[in-house]
Amino acid sequence: MATASLRIDINAVLANWRALDALSGPSTETGAVVKANSYGLGAARVAPALARAGVRKFFVAAAEEGAAVRRALGEGPQIFVFSGHMAGDTQMITERGLTPMLNSLEQVTRHFETLPGAPFGVQLDTGMNRLGMETAEWEAVAPIVLGANPHLIMSHLACADEPAHPMNARQLAEFRRMTDGCGVARSFSATGGILLGPEYHFDVTRPGIGLYGGLPFEDARPVVRLSLPVVQVRDVAPGETVGYSNTWQAEAETRIATIAAGYADGLMRTLSSKATLWAGDTPCPVIGRVSMDLITVDVTHLPEPPVALDILGPHQGVDDLADVAGTIGYEILTSLGQRYQRQYIEGTA
Ligand SMILES: *Cc1c(COP(=O)(O)O)cnc(C)c1O
Repeated sequence: MATASLRIDINAVLANWRALDALSGPSTETGAVVKANSYGLGAARVAPALARAGVRKFFVAAAEEGAAVRRALGEGPQIFVFSGHMAGDTQMITERGLTPMLNSLEQVTRHFETLPGAPFGVQLDTGMNRLGMETAEWEAVAPIVLGANPHLIMSHLACADEPAHPMNARQLAEFRRMTDGCGVARSFSATGGILLGPEYHFDVTRPGIGLYGGLPFEDARPVVRLSLPVVQVRDVAPGETVGYSNTWQAEAETRIATIAAGYADGLMRTLSSKATLWAGDTPCPVIGRVSMDLITVDVTHLPEPPVALDILGPHQGVDDLADVAGTIGYEILTSLGQRYQRQYIEGTA
């Protein structure tokens, strides 16, 4: 194995979608968020598999991503763009059949003027203060916008990963105040919101991270396994140092394996001297600094020098590694390097 192997279990993605679909309930349609190249795992493989499993609504962040997902999916499924109809996107939106979620009066005007009659949705801001029309803006344009038959009205929760947070109920009340009786399909919940319960589900849910095996969906099936090849093994004597800035010094005779991956592959430098890699069931500590392309690991206790070590697998999931790195599973996934060879497990294999 010359390059690192990133194994992506499409069957697990589909099982996670089915589980979130069941949690969303029978009167709610479950979509799929495939932005950022399906959270780093490869939208060209993940999106078509989800479509074959029955997903009809896909969500991306930007029109360019929507165009790539359309190429993978072909005609049929609806692709919603969270960033809406931005200047310069008009041609892509119409040629690729994308549905922009209009976020502002400016976007409403642009869409209605450049693509009259073309599909669109509306994004409302219910308190996160990030994206979407606010209450006053919405009240001003709602009669016109609703008259043009939006396909979907959505908002996004700021604190859905904390079920007891009072922000959830506040945003829910605001969303209902802004949209009750509007006669348009509504979407309010990503993965975290699905887990909050039925009053958060509305007509369409939009899970992302839960499909890819991350928290807050605790029952998710793990999706990724990442094995890193060993380039070289050496023995160091007491007193010798390893890596940049000599941050690690041997107290005893130590066997060091050097692994072919580093922060350029999304294994953050904050993992230095803290992370653990696995030789099967045996933990092996990272020692010294993570460099751009290499990581050094203590393998003194292994009976044989290893050929490869796992950094994501059965003993350490994306959220476990995220805890060590000081980040979240989302960032571990979306940082997964472009140098990894992606292998897909799909079907009955
Ligand atoms: C990313 C995103 C989602 C998916 O969120 P997860 O927490 O990954 O399930 C849904 N809606 C919007 C607006 C998003 O930006």
